Amino acid sequence: MGERLSTTPNWAGLPVTVAGLGVSGISAARVLRELGAEVTVVDGGDSPALRARAAELTAPYTSGFQVRLGDGDTLPEGTRLVVTSPGWPPSSPLFAAADAAGVPVWGDVELAWRLRRPLPATGEPAPWLAVTGTNGKTTTVQMLASILTAAGKHTAAVGNVGVSVLDAVLAGFDDSAAGSGEQPYDVLAVELSSYQLHWAPSLRPHSSAVLNLAPDHLDWHGSMAAYGADKGRIYQGNQVACVYNLADPATEELVREADVEEGCRAIGFGLDAPAISQFGVVDGLLVDRAFVPDRAKNAAEIGSVGDVEPPAPHNIANALAAAALARAYGVDAKAVREGLRAFRPDAHRIAFVAEVDGVRWIDDSKATNPHAAAASLAAYEPIVWIAGGLAKGATFDELAKGAAARLRAAVLIGEDRALIRAALARHAPDVPVIEAAEGQTGAVAMAEVVRTARGLARSGDTVLLAPACASMDMFTNYGERGDLFAEAVRGLTD
Ligand code: ADP
Repeated sequence: MGERLSTTPNWAGLPVTVAGLGVSGISAARVLRELGAEVTVVDGGDSPALRARAAELTAPYTSGFQVRLGDGDTLPEGTRLVVTSPGWPPSSPLFAAADAAGVPVWGDVELAWRLRRPLPATGEPAPWLAVTGTNGKTTTVQMLASILTAAGKHTAAVGNVGVSVLDAVLAGFDDSAAGSGEQPYDVLAVELSSYQLHWAPSLRPHSSAVLNLAPDHLDWHGSMAAYGADKGRIYQGNQVACVYNLADPATEELVREADVEEGCRAIGFGLDAPAISQFGVVDGLLVDRAFVPDRAKNAAEIGSVGDVEPPAPHNIANALAAAALARAYGVDAKAVREGLRAFRPDAHRIAFVAEVDGVRWIDDSKATNPHAAAASLAAYEPIVWIAGGLAKGATFDELAKGAAARLRAAVLIGEDRALIRAALARHAPDVPVIEAAEGQTGAVAMAEVVRTARGLARSGDTVLLAPACASMDMFTNYGERGDLFAEAVRGLTD
């Protein structure tokens, strides 16, 4: 599918349908219109807010730009290409119609990939170093961008964070939507979700990493197999390295199944001493035994555990994955260390809030699924664990089993708390479980939770907000949940 359009279609007058009038759809529609395509944006919703957004989008153009609200299912007559927003489920009738008509469907990442331009310096487009996985993507691409910057490269962490992929490939080229005056990027650290990978058939990164693979978004993909297959697409056509997690055999399996360029290597990362072609840890040092001369005998020190903030095991793993991609791209060992040292994690990712009466309070509100929460629970002991919210179909047995020995107590909140309570009863029957009052939300609820946790914690303990659930039943988002937690903790000392 898709070969009726050339790799770089002649955009002038090409009828393109953009699915979704959200951030990604609007940005794609604008770029496509600037390229000369005849753009129709479709969206199943219809509201005064959407109408205002549509009017604002099309206002600067006298022709060639339409928005159709209230029908996201029917393929507009004459469409030659559909560009979809990542959130649209693959089962949408629009895609079935496109398929039946032989019309290709691209995501925002595919569009960006096709619009790359050669850099004046090399005559080639900027290479992509790509990262996917269930958890740790944002952190890892930010670490990678920090390392590349330390190596003197003009780069950015793009994707879900900061710059959009589309803006990043166009930045610095004169006719770009992002404006002129900037320099094009030399290399990009690209975060890719499984949704984006699903719709990016021709993507061929320089090198890429799958950090881990745990059940998530299964409602969108339909099954774990389909989710894994979409994540695995990131390795297709890699040129230098396919980086996988030694602790997660599913990621290695994806490398084995990938069709890569001749000479591309499989590079494992893990927390033990590395074998040949691996990154690992020896006596607190981060070690590269892959991109060194004579790897049978040699290894290079690229940093130390103390260079990584926070120094939790899963975050050391993220740092090793970022380092492996940077080294695959040719960055020297010194820049890896400098880049890791310069990196600071975003808020709510195992953020230290305060120490009060010998108790450490940690905000990992971004742990919105059990896999993420398991990572931070593994980093502390003993723990008073604050958990609960919206489970999004997740199960908690494995999490409860893994954490049981480390828990002093648990304080449960939110709509799906019963699932966690039941899992704790099965696997950690001796751990006291206190439930917050039901029906309370926001600051009031969080203040009570923090007071309860304080009553349970002893000097030397860690109180960890790692809810393993989404926040929207009680808070605006995970950010607010974490902010209110930190506020309540600081209130303890006032
Ligand atoms: P993503 O972009 O994949 O959502 P983030 O870097 O924003 O990832 O981290 C999301 C959550 O996952 C945080 O709570 C963090 O503590 C946890 N996390 C980060 N890296 C890992 C990892 N390698 N394995 C498991 N959990 C992780």
